[in-house]
Amino acid sequence: MTDAVAQLRQEVCTLHAELPRSGLVAWTSGNVSARVPGEDLMVIKASGVPYDELDAEAIVVCDLYGGLVEGDLLPSSDAATHGHIYREMHEVGGVAHTHSAYATAWAVHGEAIPCVMTAMADEFGGEIPVGPFALIGDEEIGRGVVGTLARHRSSAVLMRSHGVFTIGAGPRAAVKAAVMCEDVARTVHLARSLGEVQPLQRDHIDALYDRYQNVYGQR
Ligand SMILES: [Zn+2]
Repeated sequence: MTDAVAQLRQEVCTLHAELPRSGLVAWTSGNVSARVPGEDLMVIKASGVPYDELDAEAIVVCDLYGGLVEGDLLPSSDAATHGHIYREMHEVGGVAHTHSAYATAWAVHGEAIPCVMTAMADEFGGEIPVGPFALIGDEEIGRGVVGTLARHRSSAVLMRSHGVFTIGAGPRAAVKAAVMCEDVARTVHLARSLGEVQPLQRDHIDALYDRYQNVYGQR
C-alpha cells in the first residue's frame, strides 16, 4: 500500500467522525469514500463498523465496481453505488451517504427541496433534487444518483424513500455537502411549517452561487 493510500484512509476515517457529530447518522448507517487519485480505486468505510470503533483499518480499498482490493473487512454495501459515481463522474473525488432525518423526510415525501434561501443558492446552486427509488445491492442506485445530478447543479440528491448522496471534489467537500443538505432540509421544513415559501429568483440564485463558489472564503 502506498503512503498516499494510507493517508487517504486516515483522512476518510477522520471525516467519518463528522457524521455522528453533526447528527446525520444512527448506529452504523452512512458512509464516506474517496477516489484514489490516478487509480481506478477508491477507499470506503467497511460494512457494519460502529463509528466509535472506526480506525484507518476499517477504511478499505476497493475497485470502482465495489470489489475489495485491500483490507481485512468487507466494504460498505453501498460500495457499488460509490464506484458507479466515480466511474461516471470524473470530476468527483469524494462521495458521502447518510439517512439524515430532515433530508430523508423530503426524500420519503418524494419532493425536491426548493431553493428558498441564500445559503442553499450558495452551496447547491438551486433546488436539491429527488432521484428515483432503487433497491440496494447493484448499480441501480448509482445510475439514479448520476442521472439526477447530471441535470442539476446540486452536489446533493435525495434518493426517493432512502436518503442522501452527496458528491465533492474530495471527501471533505462531500461531507460538507451532506451537513449543509441536512441543515437546509431542516430550515426549509421549519419555514414551510410557518406558511408558504417563496423560491429565489433564478438570477439571484446564479449570482449567489457564482460568488460563493468563486469568491467567498480565504484566498
Ligand atoms: Zn442508505
